[in-house]
Amino acid sequence: MRVNTVNKAQKVAGTCISCHESIDVGQGYYWAAAFRSPRVVRHIECGPFRASQIASNDKLSSLYSAQEAVEDWIEGSQGETFTLDDAQAVMEEAADAVEEVGEQYSEGASSIEDGFGHPTSQSEEMTDHADECSDWASALRDALDSLSEFDDSDDEDEDDTEKTDLTDEEKFDAWRQEVFTAMQDAANECPL
Ligand SMILES: [Zn+2]
Repeated sequence: MRVNTVNKAQKVAGTCISCHESIDVGQGYYWAAAFRSPRVVRHIECGPFRASQIASNDKLSSLYSAQEAVEDWIEGSQGETFTLDDAQAVMEEAADAVEEVGEQYSEGASSIEDGFGHPTSQSEEMTDHADECSDWASALRDALDSLSEFDDSDDEDEDDTEKTDLTDEEKFDAWRQEVFTAMQDAANECPL
């Protein structure tokens, strides 16, 4: 979707999709509108639109939201303590959302083919998208498979792998970055 920029609003331009405050006269804003949809607006100060906010349809918006959820979690977990299970749960949730979109593409393809009695270029494209979503969901689900829970090697108790202490901060940080990289790489595989 094309994003338009207004450097100085001539009148109140609506409610910012980011900060939920009004866009007042004199403020700069971005706006975009999908076909037959209300336009979305955002203060320039609040930064550019996220892909999910200006996707041209709901399926794309859901896919981009799944990607953004992973990125937001990474962003919010900088410097934080978490377990591999926590990270896996984020990836599972994203994968579920992506699979759901894949099913919508499949259903869309089936209903077109039922209507025409044969595949069309549009139904074939939707089938391709369904396959791509399914592949991406698997990539999200499997992204952390090669990593193991943070191992505090000073700790002899094998069951106690979730706890870290500050003296191991650097080790934990390295592990955390590995998790983030694996998550981000998988998130980047968004096919559409
Ligand atoms: Zn704003």
